[in-house]
Amino acid sequence: MTATLIKNVSIFDGTGFEPFPGEVLVENEKISVVARGSGQINVPGADVIDGYGGTLMPGLIEPHSHLTFPHAIDRVARSFMPGPEEHAYITAHNAKTLLDHGYTSAFSGGATNPAVEVRLRDEIAGGYLPGPRLKAASFERSVQGNSGRNSKSSGPGVEELEKFCREMIELGVDTFKFIVSGPGSVFPQNFQILTYTPDEIALASRIAKENGKAIAGHCYSSESIKLAILHGFDAIYHCNFADEETLDLMESQKEKFVVVPANGIIEAGLTKRHLIPDGAPEKHPDAQGGLEMIDEAQRRVIPEMRKRGIRVLPGGDYGFPHNPHGREAWELELFQTKFGYEPAEILSAATHGSAWLMRMADEIGLVKSGYLADLLIVEGNPLNDIAILQNKNAMKLIMKAGAIHKLSMDALTANWES
Ligand SMILES: [Zn+2]
Repeated sequence: MTATLIKNVSIFDGTGFEPFPGEVLVENEKISVVARGSGQINVPGADVIDGYGGTLMPGLIEPHSHLTFPHAIDRVARSFMPGPEEHAYITAHNAKTLLDHGYTSAFSGGATNPAVEVRLRDEIAGGYLPGPRLKAASFERSVQGNSGRNSKSSGPGVEELEKFCREMIELGVDTFKFIVSGPGSVFPQNFQILTYTPDEIALASRIAKENGKAIAGHCYSSESIKLAILHGFDAIYHCNFADEETLDLMESQKEKFVVVPANGIIEAGLTKRHLIPDGAPEKHPDAQGGLEMIDEAQRRVIPEMRKRGIRVLPGGDYGFPHNPHGREAWELELFQTKFGYEPAEILSAATHGSAWLMRMADEIGLVKSGYLADLLIVEGNPLNDIAILQNKNAMKLIMKAGAIHKLSMDALTANWES
C-alpha cells in the first residue's frame, strides 16, 4: 500500500464552504482521512507533501469537452478534421493538455471521431496515456449529417436515428449527443430551427436509457430545451433563448439535468476575431450579429437560472484556434465577471456539480474520505482570484486517483522518507 500525507494546505473541499487549514491522507487511489488543523494525521512511512499554505481542492471536471476538436493552447492544427492517424495523436495531446491544467475528469459533449475518443478513454483508464478520466461521446448528430458525416446513419426519421444509436453503442460511447436546434451555431436564422421530431427524440432517449448511456443536447431554442427536458436529457447545452415558460419548466425539473452554456467560445468569437481562421463560420458576416445575440441572451438567462436554483456548470466548446484546449478554466472567470456567480459556487459547480454529470458524484468532485484522490494544490487562493486557475504554473500538485501527474518541486518539498 502507498500512503501520502498532504499537509500545510488550505482545503476547499468542493462543497462550497469556506476553505479550512488541514491535512489529507491518501492511501492507494483514495482519500482516507481529511483532518482540520495540523499534526492530526501520523502515518509512519508515509510520503509527505508540504503544500506551503497553498489551496488543496478537488480536480476540475470539464462537463462539455470536445477533445477531438483539434486546436490547443500550444498548437493550431492544420485542419479541423485531420486524417485518422494524426487525429488520434492530436486528441491524445489535447487530453494531456487538460490534465496539465488541472482537469482530472471530462464529460464529452460530442466527438468528430468517436472511435478515437472511445479508445483514448480506455488508454487513459488503463494508465497508458495521461489525460482526464473521460466519458466518451458519439458524433454530434444533426439530421443532415453535420459532424456525423462519417457515420453510416444520417438523415431524417426514426429508422436512421435508431441505426445511429446502435452504431454508437457498438463503438462503446458513454454519451449520445444531438444537435436539437440551431445547426451552425452562430447564424441567427438557424437559432429557432428544431432539427428533430418529438418521436425521434423520444426514441433516442429510450435507447440511451435502456443501454445506460447519458444523453446531451445542443439546444438554443425554448422548443428544443423543452423537448430535452421532457425526454430526460442529462445535459442541456447552451440554452441561450429559454423563455419564461421554459425557465418555469426547467425550474420544476431542476434535479434531473444540468445546463452548460459555454460562454468562452462566444466571448472569444467577439473579442479574438483575429485568431479565427478564414473560412470558419464565425468569420461569416452574419456571425458577428449572431454571437452578439447569444452573448446578450446568456447574460440575461444565466443569472435568471442561477436565481431559480437550476444547476449551471462552467465549461464547453474549447478546441478552436481562438478558444483552444488549455484555456478551459477561463470559463470559471467568465461565470464570475459576466454572470455574477461567487467563486465558491463556481468552484463547487466545476468539481462536485460536474461529478453528477459524470455519474460519479459519490466518487469524485469532493475532498472527502472514501473519494478518489483527484486533488490539486494551487499556489494562492482561487476564491480570491479565480483567474489563477488558468495558469498551469500555479498548479503545484496534480493528482489523479492517487497517482501524481505533476509535483512542482521548486515550490513544494516532498519529504520522501519512507
Ligand atoms: Zn459543444
